[in-house]
Amino acid sequence: MGSSNTNKNKNSKNTVSADSIGKAFLALPKNVRIVIIVLLLLGVLFFVLNDRFFRIEGIPTWGDLYKGAGLSGNIVAVEGGVSVHFVDVGQGDCELIKTDSKTVLIDCGEREYFSDVIEYIKSQNIERLDYVVVTHPHSDHMGGMSYILDEFDIGTVIMPKVKESKTPTTNAYKRLLKSVSDKSISVEYAKAGTEYKLDDAVMTLLSPVRDYDDLNNYSIAVKLEHGGNSFLFTGDIEKTAETDILNSGADVSAKVLKVAHHGSTTSSHQAFLDAVYPTYAVIEVGSPNDYGHPHDKIIERLEEMELVIYRTDICGNIVFISDGSDFEILTENKVNY
Ligand SMILES: [Zn+2]
Repeated sequence: MGSSNTNKNKNSKNTVSADSIGKAFLALPKNVRIVIIVLLLLGVLFFVLNDRFFRIEGIPTWGDLYKGAGLSGNIVAVEGGVSVHFVDVGQGDCELIKTDSKTVLIDCGEREYFSDVIEYIKSQNIERLDYVVVTHPHSDHMGGMSYILDEFDIGTVIMPKVKESKTPTTNAYKRLLKSVSDKSISVEYAKAGTEYKLDDAVMTLLSPVRDYDDLNNYSIAVKLEHGGNSFLFTGDIEKTAETDILNSGADVSAKVLKVAHHGSTTSSHQAFLDAVYPTYAVIEVGSPNDYGHPHDKIIERLEEMELVIYRTDICGNIVFISDGSDFEILTENKVNY
């Protein structure tokens, strides 16, 4: 009885203090109340706009405030060696590769994330992207790419050559082509087997190997090798393209697999996973999303292979730093592995 009374007293005390603030507010003249509400709303609006668009020097953005509160930002600029960054862009893909002197951006997520991606790239002290790989022209992979191309010094854009009947007519795609032509950026169509030297690492394109009816299958799959470490980035390839890549004879084995198509059941069929035989699986996915990604079936499949699974919806940004044989793995959010 005694303890329940104490609780009751505590509760009523809290109610009184919340009540008294409310009452004091209501006791103010109506005009003053309206001014306070408008000022509060303007304050919130200013922070949102500054975070998204203005980024006025000296005035903190939401991101700065979060960092100040210790809620994120435990990923610092990675210098030297080879690092692979899975940038959290909600329901979409974005990967950044950084070697001693070269940089590669693979996809950039939806348009709404472009300023976050720009900020992330700049946080890595990067001013030039030597290669920008647009895995396939869906907005969750290249929605904000024109803004990225406008912002940085760009070497070459690598895209899949999509058959004419499948050429996108979306604004994001038109903006991308306009940025490419405005800045006279060189464009290369992905050819499976092409290698790019990135200091002591090598990037190889594994697909597309033929034409498809589904844009997902056109995704450029990229393998990155650094000494004994390797990564496989798969865009949104589905079982059809996975099978074609296996049949092409390409060596898909990799220690780190970017799970295809955000963990959808359309992809990651067992024969492909067996051939990759990864130690780590990274799923880039937003929470919540309308697609049920990642699918339980795929998670079960990966767990059965005893992989360590990293997800951007849980970890935030994820960074693998390679020394050629081992990895140091950083996550934006504190997650126990
Ligand atoms: Zn996608």
